[in-house]
Amino acid sequence: MGYASTRSVALIGVTAHVVDIEADAAPGDAELYLVGLPELSVWPARARIRAAIRNSGTSWPDARITVSVSPVIPPVYDAAADLALAVALLAAAGVVPAERVAGRVFLGELALDGGIRPVRGVLPMVAAAVRAGISRVAVPAECAREAAQVPGAVVMPVTRLADVVDQLRHGAFRDHHDQEPESAPSSSFAVDLADVPGNQAARRALEVCAAGGHHLFLSGDGPATMLAERLPGILPPLSEQAAREVAEIYSLAGRFDRAPGVTPPLSAPHHTATPTAIFGSVAANRPGAVSLAHHGVLHLADAPEFVRPVLDSLCRPMDSGQVHLTGMGRSVRYPARFILVVDARPCSCPDGREECACTPEARRRYRARLAMLLSHVAARAPVEQEDRAAGTGESSAAVAARVLAARVRAAHRLADTPWRTNAEIPAPDLHTRFPVAPEAAELLGSAVSTGLVTADGLPRLLRVAWTLADLRGADRPQLDDAAGALELWKGADGDGAR
Ligand SMILES: [Zn+2]
Repeated sequence: MGYASTRSVALIGVTAHVVDIEADAAPGDAELYLVGLPELSVWPARARIRAAIRNSGTSWPDARITVSVSPVIPPVYDAAADLALAVALLAAAGVVPAERVAGRVFLGELALDGGIRPVRGVLPMVAAAVRAGISRVAVPAECAREAAQVPGAVVMPVTRLADVVDQLRHGAFRDHHDQEPESAPSSSFAVDLADVPGNQAARRALEVCAAGGHHLFLSGDGPATMLAERLPGILPPLSEQAAREVAEIYSLAGRFDRAPGVTPPLSAPHHTATPTAIFGSVAANRPGAVSLAHHGVLHLADAPEFVRPVLDSLCRPMDSGQVHLTGMGRSVRYPARFILVVDARPCSCPDGREECACTPEARRRYRARLAMLLSHVAARAPVEQEDRAAGTGESSAAVAARVLAARVRAAHRLADTPWRTNAEIPAPDLHTRFPVAPEAAELLGSAVSTGLVTADGLPRLLRVAWTLADLRGADRPQLDDAAGALELWKGADGDGAR
């Protein structure tokens, strides 16, 4: 009878691993044995493959067929390997030539009728194949444009198993040569800071947070969403590497068509979103809203409306830049380094104005839900409803230029460290490697000793003080920068929502 081998790609988090698929056909019962697959997935995978082959005009091989996957894919089977399993077994049984499937990667989930369904994560999977020296990849037609983004990939779009069999038999695999990576729209954010009336304090806080990567709390009933939507537009464009990381996350989330190109992403989940939608799913290997904000902005509008587990669990990725999920015997990490913009109205009333009947105590309780989250936020500012007469402010381009200059300054200082922004500097290193001027240290020290700032909060103030120094082009934070950081920490509305 026969032997054949081909390749597929398995994903753990966003990390892709090329796997070998081997098939052996021997005389015996016409049965299919799958080796190296997680126990629970063997039956459905076998059922899909059998039905797809039967419904593709190919009779089931009259042989005992063993298909093995190595290395063993950890506990969750990804149906993207279906097509490679089917192709390997058909090659071992002599239905298609074994030499034409060897050294190729096949990706796609089989439908019972023999159709090939699109799969999530094609971009990181194809990138891994190319890195492993395999350029010829068959992918579901819907994913061909995505696969073609990988330089060096020779993409074969496929829609039905019957077509794959036909093309392999006749050696006529059509390669997809339309591989010119499409350039991202020059500005996906056709919004500008000049559109936001008044709100000077909030605009300044937004600029500081953009320059240093700090998290921001906007308090009040003003245009918080307008400001948050304009934050990506004042951040520096993503590097090639960062844009690739973002695109791979969007691919894994099944949203490749929404990947923002070189503009930092904006992820703004609704307050009804579940913890799984926010943080991701280890069972489905799907990143959540916090990872869709990687290298960009996460905006939580009306934050007190989110469920408590979401609010409290956000602190981890805010500090570590990643989400760590465990379950089903596996452990995955999704990148999630974002700038958080969180906003809250004064109370739970829909229009939240002073005319409502909410007591100060009710307002305090409404905000109290944010206490843990806000202890990780470095800057606070009020947002107020202002009419157009309040005057508009500077354009995004003008602010972006200052942000970029400050970031270049910080990047220069951090050149021989793993960190790129002030917000990423760990607390111990702030004290040992980046001391501030003595008067600045004294002011912040007294804020701690008087209880205005907690000891945990001090590093956040030091980081903001460095950003204020970077924004004015100074070598290190002086007294004024420390005072400015303290002002941003307190926020101007002084409602004590910490
Ligand atoms: Zn109210």
